[in-house]
Amino acid sequence: MSADLLSQVRRRRTFAIISHPDAGKTTLTEKLLLFSGAIQIAGSVKARKASRHATSDWMEIEKQRGISVASSVMQMEYRDCVINLLDTPGHQDFSEDTYRVLTAVDAALMVIDAANGVEPQTRRLLQVCRARNTPILTFVNKMDREVQEPLALMDEIERELGMGVVPFTWPVGMAKHFGGVLDLRRDQMRVFSPGEDRHHDDDEIIDGVHNPVLAERFGMSYEQAAGEIELVREAAPAFDEEEFLTGHQTPMFFGSAINNFGVKEVLDALVELAPAPGSRHAIQREVKPEEPKFSGVVFKIQANMDPAHRDRIAFLRVASGHFERGMRLKVVRSGKELRPNSVVSFLSQRRELLDEAFAGDIIGIPNHGVLQLGDTITEGEALQYTGLPFFAPEMFRAVEVADPLKTKQLRAGLTQLGEEGAIQVFRPAAGSVLLLGAVGQLQFEVVAHRLEHEYGVRARIQPVRYNVARWVTCDDAKELQRFIDHNAHRVAFDAVDAPCVLLEYAGELRAMQDNWPKIKFHALREHA
Ligand code: GDP
Repeated sequence: MSADLLSQVRRRRTFAIISHPDAGKTTLTEKLLLFSGAIQIAGSVKARKASRHATSDWMEIEKQRGISVASSVMQMEYRDCVINLLDTPGHQDFSEDTYRVLTAVDAALMVIDAANGVEPQTRRLLQVCRARNTPILTFVNKMDREVQEPLALMDEIERELGMGVVPFTWPVGMAKHFGGVLDLRRDQMRVFSPGEDRHHDDDEIIDGVHNPVLAERFGMSYEQAAGEIELVREAAPAFDEEEFLTGHQTPMFFGSAINNFGVKEVLDALVELAPAPGSRHAIQREVKPEEPKFSGVVFKIQANMDPAHRDRIAFLRVASGHFERGMRLKVVRSGKELRPNSVVSFLSQRRELLDEAFAGDIIGIPNHGVLQLGDTITEGEALQYTGLPFFAPEMFRAVEVADPLKTKQLRAGLTQLGEEGAIQVFRPAAGSVLLLGAVGQLQFEVVAHRLEHEYGVRARIQPVRYNVARWVTCDDAKELQRFIDHNAHRVAFDAVDAPCVLLEYAGELRAMQDNWPKIKFHALREHA
């Protein structure tokens, strides 16, 4: 392996920002881009953001697709590092998409609204990070407002998320009296000044967190903060890199994204603390990022990003090697060859033509259905990466066309939307009406809308009696077939023909397990 490959891998940082809607994720994303020099003008991320409050207004969501509903990717350089930032959709109905995005990152940045503390969506996303031992950095935002006491917030994060919290900075005052943060590691104070215009790191710095000047200037706010950091120093554990890297400890930073305050510390922490890409598990073996041969995994597919081109882009996380435009690649699942000539990278949200990429980078490969979610792509080696989750849907609908002559278009559209992961499509073992499975109601609305506008099919989406789905497997193929035949009225096959049993009540599952002891029931299916 070449030293050059290794040094390219080492300077990569690939992370996702996670938060509850309104905590300030968009604002922080924009400020990170601004501070890294990737964009010049504030407001360009914001301007493209969907109106979150119109969650039932799927027309609006549709309009903004590709930016907000779906996760987008941004690349920037900061210090010596190449940072890949993956945005995650905020609406909980799209959490499946978010979960998959989280399989493509090496770290996560959690944004918390200091007034609201830990909110439901943060909690859910954090569970996924914890399950994968993803290292997490915490940014407590909106210190310029009337917020919770920092000690209470720290306690809440620890309790709710089950993680040790290690403050790297500590706020002095809040709202009108927000004076800045004490940087506990650099032993200095960064003085707050409001305003969105500063692009550079020109905060006023006062040396020494015990500098008597601080008490004079910030009075009670400083006295209180000084008392708190004594408490914290006694009670909180010291920062332990290993604990952080396994997702058991999170460094915590305070700031105000809208005022550009505390943003640079987060960027520095990403570069200094977040890990470079590591080895990834394939069924066959462990793959090192600096191995010379290219490999990658598709974690997201998005159809028709640009309606004018009806294109379909597979988002691929590079797992190893060096990607070059025009190289000959293989889709391991199908054995099909792929020679991507037009590959896009995502430099601060402009889609640009990409020439090369290394482990940790995200590339977009336009294709016409050759690539599916979970696909592994290599230079020829038979590798299948694991860990891309599909969750058993919790809501089901039957879908039929209003005009029977459009049945073919319906199937084509649903196949594509299914492969994209927008919805799960099931073909019943008995009967011909296709079933849709989702984790949130909004998914059905978006699918109906997209079927009509992208595939010209007006679909009738109707309730069905199912509420629970489990994928079924068995070491004994005959026994599995016997199960399927016996339960044909409630077995359906998903996009990759994996059999699934559909039930009305969770209680039925228990009885079924008792009756079929050799069959395994799964709420999660990994990889294609
Ligand atoms: P997202 O839903 O997490 O992406 O949140 P946004 O970035 O859109 O922010 C939600 C709202 O909070 C917007 O009105 C922002 O202007 C505001 N906001 C973001 N950061 C701050 C901050 O540091 N202080 C204050 N006061 N408001 C903020």
